[in-house]
Amino acid sequence: MSSTDEMYQSVIIEHDRSPRNFRVLEHPSHHAEGSNPLCGDRVSVDLQVDADGRITDVAFQGSGCAISRASASMMTTVLKGKTTAEAQELFERFHALMMTGTTAEPKELGKLVAFQGVAAFPMRVKCATLPWHAVNEALRPKA
Ligand code: ZN
Repeated sequence: MSSTDEMYQSVIIEHDRSPRNFRVLEHPSHHAEGSNPLCGDRVSVDLQVDADGRITDVAFQGSGCAISRASASMMTTVLKGKTTAEAQELFERFHALMMTGTTAEPKELGKLVAFQGVAAFPMRVKCATLPWHAVNEALRPKA
């Protein structure tokens, strides 16, 4: 298996072709935007967080490469139903996977492990983490 094959795992290709939650929320409680000028990726994420701090809906819009779209798509599917604390924990785990290419907790990452091969491509790591950075920023408590 070549490194390119590993990077473009079938699940990534599938999410790029049919992105989930590719829409806008009408009255999101949180909104985030991010861009990766090195690749030309742009992403905006809407989140609906209820009074208990649980993410009840999440959607994204954007344009960019397959990796950024697939990452944003997969992110929306895993974040829905999570608390904001759990979301930030997942961000930390995913970020660590992207920085090191390994994880001690593959179960916690679930299907996000598909991005493991991307870690070998520093330029692509920025694409994969872009939507996560945006959400992490949006969920950070406002001062
Ligand atoms: Zn990109």
